[in-house]
Amino acid sequence: MPDLNLPRPEWMTEDLVLLEEQARRFIADEFVPHLDEWHEKGMYPREVWTKAGEAGLLCASMPEEYGGAGGTFAHEAVINRELSLAGFDTFGSPLHSGIVAPYILHYGTDEQKKRWLPKLATGEMVGAIAMTEPGTGSDLQGVRTKAEKSGNGYVLNGSKTFITNGQHANLIVVVAKTDPKQGAKGVSLIVVETDDAPGFRRGRKLKKLGMDSADTSELFFEDVKLPAENMLGTEEGQGFYQLMQELPQERLIVALHAVAMMERAVALTADYVKQRKAFGKTIMEFQNTQFELAECKTQTVMAKVFVDYCIGRHVAGDLDTVTASMAKYKLSDMQGDVIDRCLQLFGGYGYMDEYPISRLYRDARVLRIYAGTNEIMKLLIARSL
Ligand SMILES: Cc1cc2nc3c(=O)[nH]c(=O)nc-3n(C[C@H](O)[C@H](O)[C@H](O)COP(=O)(O)OP(=O)(O)OC[C@H]3O[C@@H](n4cnc5c(N)ncnc54)[C@H](O)[C@@H]3O)c2cc1C
Repeated sequence: MPDLNLPRPEWMTEDLVLLEEQARRFIADEFVPHLDEWHEKGMYPREVWTKAGEAGLLCASMPEEYGGAGGTFAHEAVINRELSLAGFDTFGSPLHSGIVAPYILHYGTDEQKKRWLPKLATGEMVGAIAMTEPGTGSDLQGVRTKAEKSGNGYVLNGSKTFITNGQHANLIVVVAKTDPKQGAKGVSLIVVETDDAPGFRRGRKLKKLGMDSADTSELFFEDVKLPAENMLGTEEGQGFYQLMQELPQERLIVALHAVAMMERAVALTADYVKQRKAFGKTIMEFQNTQFELAECKTQTVMAKVFVDYCIGRHVAGDLDTVTASMAKYKLSDMQGDVIDRCLQLFGGYGYMDEYPISRLYRDARVLRIYAGTNEIMKLLIARSL
């Protein structure tokens, strides 16, 4: 990776440096040799999840009593960055460990935490969060999936789309209306364990512009019977509040992903332009290349400083929604610019799938869309003015 000449962030303690080394080694030995094969297949094999669990790459921030590594968000950040630097931008573990597991930890009852978190930590269960529907994305209050009271439990009906980990997931946190007459106050989070859920059906693994090996999918729920214990927490109508509380972390995960992808793009490009020749010189010797890469490196350093600042604040329990939204929107925008410029310096090879810069370019685009579009981020930021 390029030397960004940055001091180690304050939150990066000695044990995190060790974790970084361990994760880097494990990913290099166990995952990297299969990168192209999994990309060609368009899917990760199921065992990748259990291997990641055995290596301690899942649920690192969950308490040890629930099977996690007892770390903080900084542990997730270190692991996510290593996955991304190695080219595993499509692996859904940041969502599994950094989004799904925290919903259970923060809002689940003790019984729910004991039931689900240890299995998420080993990879026996793969997590997904199902918010988006064919008719509703940004406007979450408008979800139409319903969880209606029936006897001692609920009956779930509705359909979801664009769900990350949609083919592998067997624990899905579903955003549903328990009171369709209400807006935000009628929303609850209800957990579906798909291994025993008649009426649950997976739709297509959707073909996408990028993130080819991510199993983004449609999901269908037709009269799925769920016990009352599957409602996250003890009270209905808390879902919207729970989502709002957790979204800053989701946005920070996207922001740090954007930065790691920029780091990788600059490194790949700096290597390439020193080898490739035109007009009797390396491409690096053209002043235009030097200026382009100088700008890309500068943007990457600025992005990394900001994301490290946000991680530090989040670990201290002090990251507000507005700052997290700034990081998500601005760093994913910068990432789009940096990767586009880098790709240009590869010439035609930058357009070829076998060159990682080409995949980075395609994979990068969605960061401006998911986890709340960048327009929604700007709305949230504007409210603070
Ligand atoms: C690869 C991928 C993975 C995903 N993974 C998941 C997942 O795991 N779980 C999940 O629930 N969802 C997931 N999503 C869905 C994603 O979060 C939504 O696509 C996103 O929130 C936008 O919703 P939408 O697609 O319905 O767009 P829309 O809400 O229809 O927005 C369309 C356009 O209108 C703009 N817009 C909307 N409202 C406003 C407004 N008030 N002001 C200004 N502009 C506005 C948007 O910014 C956007 O440009 C994923 C999506 C993709 C592509």
